[in-house]
Amino acid sequence: MTAPFAAPQTDGAASAAFIEKRPLEQYVAPDKPSLIGLTRDALAAALGTIGVPERQQRMRVQQIWHWLYVRGAQDFDAMTTLSKELRAELAQHFTAARPEVVAEQTSVDGTRKWLLRLPGETDSRPCEVECVYIPETDRGTLCISSQVGCTLNCTFCHTGTQRLVRNLTPGEIVGQVVLARDRLNDWQRAASPNGEGEKRLVSNVVMMGMGEPLYNFDAVRDGLNVVADGDGLSISKRRITLSTSGVVPNIARAGEEIGSMLAISLHAVTDELRDQLVPLNRKYPLRELLDACRNYPGVSNARRITFEYVMLKGINDSLVDARALVRLVKGIPAKINLIPFNPWPGTQYECSDWEQIEKFSEVIFNAGYASPVRTPRGRDILAACGQLKSATEKLSARERLALRAMAMTD
Ligand code: SAH
Ligand code: SF4
Repeated sequence: MTAPFAAPQTDGAASAAFIEKRPLEQYVAPDKPSLIGLTRDALAAALGTIGVPERQQRMRVQQIWHWLYVRGAQDFDAMTTLSKELRAELAQHFTAARPEVVAEQTSVDGTRKWLLRLPGETDSRPCEVECVYIPETDRGTLCISSQVGCTLNCTFCHTGTQRLVRNLTPGEIVGQVVLARDRLNDWQRAASPNGEGEKRLVSNVVMMGMGEPLYNFDAVRDGLNVVADGDGLSISKRRITLSTSGVVPNIARAGEEIGSMLAISLHAVTDELRDQLVPLNRKYPLRELLDACRNYPGVSNARRITFEYVMLKGINDSLVDARALVRLVKGIPAKINLIPFNPWPGTQYECSDWEQIEKFSEVIFNAGYASPVRTPRGRDILAACGQLKSATEKLSARERLALRAMAMTD
């Protein structure tokens, strides 16, 4: 169920223009549950409820899994390896629906953004999240959300100011990947194991959209395990990065039960400043956070932890900070990603000057870390963000997602 899409834009400024979307009042919540995002066990149980005998369930799960996640089937009619009766029975009780895309925008550099509309917590008002695809020469990164809004109030983050908060379901998490493959015609591209055919566009996933994934642990775990399943969407865990503001008790669990790459929103090198920027630091201070990183299951030089550091003018961007940052992460297999702050209306912060970001980055680079700020493209996006200063909150949020995901890929 998709709305008419905005025509692809022809230049950077135009791509920041108004998103055409349908009024919220026209939203109709789905009346049947979607099978997208269920774990294999949950899918087997769902089949049990419509009378599929237990001895057949494993095979049917395998078949449906293939249709949903390898072929991208959007309805049961397409699932021709299932009997007509079973297809009809499935269609009567379930769907293969993805989150509803209410707007799509393509920017000049190929970045695609989708605005998704989801059922509200109570049926009254639907909610919206965004999902951004950023193509690069050697990969394509999809930035997905884990919650609508966020219960944490990082002072530089616009999501933290939003009132509406609910956890996304595993189906809504997996649904973001599935609909990106739909919109990019990615299902038809499938390289065979011997390398023939075309590589899929969505090769990486970063959970860096809205929300704190480790406060929606079970859904994020189940959803990401579906995304990584080798018989399905097959995005390897080394190509999935989960970003957390530092929910220490769940970091080890994430390593054990999810096993994706980990990114930590560090942003400050002293507890005093981090308490202000990331208030969760008052609960889980730097020492505990860094210990959890040191002990992250599976961490090694080949599986480094990414430390994200948002560049805030005059706040955390001095060269003293840069040197302290290097000292702080010493001994932890680490990458450092500097993220130019993306301003939003009403924020008290400004993005550091480009010159300062470069100097800061040089200190990091000289300490042996890959140069963390993206050059031509990073500047490009930064410029776009500057142009957006006077734009609406929605647009700013959209650009912010793109920028974040950009800054994440190395
Ligand atoms: N809640 C998680 C994941 C979502 S935020 C987390 O905090 O890690 C993803 C990244 O974007 C985080 O590093 C976050 O600090 C950063 N971010 C938030 N607002 C930003 C802004 N206005 N400009 C630049 N980066 C921002
Ligand atoms: Fe939530 Fe992350 Fe934003 Fe902090 S930075 S308010 S944890 S989404």
